[in-house]
Amino acid sequence: MKEISSGCIVYKIENNDVYLLMILDRFGKWTFPKGKIEEGESLEETAIRELEEETGIKVKIEQYIRETNYSYTDENRGTIEKTVYWYLGRAESEEINPRYGEIKEAKWVQIDFATELCGYDSDRDTVREVYKILSDR
Ligand code: ATP
Repeated sequence: MKEISSGCIVYKIENNDVYLLMILDRFGKWTFPKGKIEEGESLEETAIRELEEETGIKVKIEQYIRETNYSYTDENRGTIEKTVYWYLGRAESEEINPRYGEIKEAKWVQIDFATELCGYDSDRDTVREVYKILSDR
């Protein structure tokens, strides 16, 4: 079975430092906000909606970053092949209001520490890609 989600790496700049918005997911890993696409929604709309639902943060999407793929086993549905499309956006608000239940925690993390905090390898590569995009600007 296949599953598609879309998510957002949101950044803010403070005192010349770049901070990324990270969430502690319900499995206890630090990652980034994402969620499954709903009918009639574009991938960008999903990323924006899920971000706001999970963290209360509003974002202006700037560009597509990359897709990541992984598989996991669901008790009822068996093996799920998952693709996640990631977008980069700048925060339009700063105050985090975590939706506990969907996520365990959310916080701004300085980009150099973000790679260390990532609980999934594929996210670490996405952060490196973001680092490259932002420093090439
Ligand atoms: P969504 O946020 O898209 O609604 P979900 O919360 O239903 O998804 P996932 O976050 O995909 O589910 O998690 C399902 C399983 O996959 C969990 O065991 C989780 O730890 C694992 N998982 C989540 N993200 C990754 C990743 N980037 N790489 C590998 N495994 C992951």
